[in-house]
Amino acid sequence: MTTAVQEAGVQEAGFTTGDVSMPDLNTITPRFPKFKKWDIFLGIAAIHAGLVFAPSTFTWPAFRVCLALQAITALGITLGFHRLLTHRSFKVPKWLEYVVTLCGSLALQGGPIKWVATHRVHHAFSDRPQDPHSPKRGFWWAHVFWLFAYDEVLDHPTKHLRFVPELAKDPVHQFLTKTHALQTFLLGFLLYAWGGWPFVVWGIFVRTAFVYHGTWLVNSAAHIWGYQSYQTNEGSRNNWWVALISYGEGWHNNHHAYPSSAAHGLRWWELDLTYFLIRLLAMLGLATEIRLPRGNPAQLPAVSPWPSRLRLPIPNPVRSAVYG
Ligand SMILES: [Zn+2]
Ligand SMILES: [Zn+2]
Repeated sequence: MTTAVQEAGVQEAGFTTGDVSMPDLNTITPRFPKFKKWDIFLGIAAIHAGLVFAPSTFTWPAFRVCLALQAITALGITLGFHRLLTHRSFKVPKWLEYVVTLCGSLALQGGPIKWVATHRVHHAFSDRPQDPHSPKRGFWWAHVFWLFAYDEVLDHPTKHLRFVPELAKDPVHQFLTKTHALQTFLLGFLLYAWGGWPFVVWGIFVRTAFVYHGTWLVNSAAHIWGYQSYQTNEGSRNNWWVALISYGEGWHNNHHAYPSSAAHGLRWWELDLTYFLIRLLAMLGLATEIRLPRGNPAQLPAVSPWPSRLRLPIPNPVRSAVYG
């Protein structure tokens, strides 16, 4: 039975119902992971395997390409996929929405439509058995293993579209989603033509691994370590070092409390570079209707005990230390 609070959580997370009926959240049921997505596993393994060539191909120009693409693609995720597309916490002209979406797409984290659907389900069911990546299944599950498991709703060719009605009917977002892996290959060819293998190794492999772990730490570390400014009834935490690595996304408890706020750092010292960029876009007249925390923080229903069969059958000292 879906509670009103969970439905409110989905709406708060960015649903625009319009003439699309609300999804039946009962279809999201607790499930034991099946490790099936070998293509994703091999892709992520290949990105990490490429790191062995990093020392031998190091040049300062390649390093600068790495840093520039790291900033562009990580901000494509934090500003584009997350704060703009998932939560609609501000508005930009459509052309700019597509540009920042392309930047996020080049982070090779799945296309925008799937990413947004997954993240909306995470907010509606944070640290519940339906959450795609809760560390209650273990640190490594939340960090990366969940990506290799087939999810019968989120990985279904059409079932996940109910969580992204407005993106699913946008032909540009459809195109960017379908071609997201190809985009990285094209960027790799361009980098090879420009600077040879050092640019490919540092601009694709090192940079993508760097951005991966920045994003993944939000799902793992920022649901385990840090402080909670708000009682949200799930495990999200404000974590300063994750915030530094991920352009402000580590203020994750603030974000779960106020999902549609464009600002995640809410105290003066909670540095939030993504929000700085949003303010900069506003100064240029490109970002409008910037949403900030308003009213009471969002709160999920009290946590019910987790069935032990849903936990990963591997030892996990972090999980038992944090959750008992
Ligand atoms: Zn979270
Ligand atoms: Zn979010």
